[in-house]
Amino acid sequence: MNPKKLTKGRIISPPKSFKAKMKNQEHKSLLFCEKCQSVFYQKSWRHLNQVDISDAQKQNLKKTNCPACLMEKTKNYEGEIVMNFFAPLNDQIKQEIKNLIINISNKEYERNPLSRLGEFQESENQWKIFFTDNQLAKRIAQKIKKTFLESIFSQNQKIEIKFAEEKRPKTRITMTFK
Ligand SMILES: [Zn+2]
Repeated sequence: MNPKKLTKGRIISPPKSFKAKMKNQEHKSLLFCEKCQSVFYQKSWRHLNQVDISDAQKQNLKKTNCPACLMEKTKNYEGEIVMNFFAPLNDQIKQEIKNLIINISNKEYERNPLSRLGEFQESENQWKIFFTDNQLAKRIAQKIKKTFLESIFSQNQKIEIKFAEEKRPKTRITMTFK
């Protein structure tokens, strides 16, 4: 199909289809985060090795920080889980909780470079875990409760979860083991 019609000496372009728009995008330089090697492609951030772009486009990337790397840089995280251990928790359970947090975060990061574990601060009676995505923090808190409730009860301990929405979209979750 001829994309342009000649009418009485004027060139009238038909409305651009979505495909044509995307084609046009191909010639624009894409935003690229050097720190985590993700690229802004088709309206979302993706891992560079997971997008199908031409070598010419790879040569023409515009370097920037993706929103997640920016959060890490400014330490202004969207999601936070604070775990208070009022009673000493079995070391093995603690290690299992940590593994669960890391595994879920890694899987999520594979899927979406903007959703990841940012920082893990540990002291004896408290952990502070920061995430670049509030939904990831929520999901992990629920999963910890679901997975470990029984083993924690068997030690005569309790687990309490409080969700606090600060200024949206920020979420801070306090989990207290007592
Ligand atoms: Zn990045």
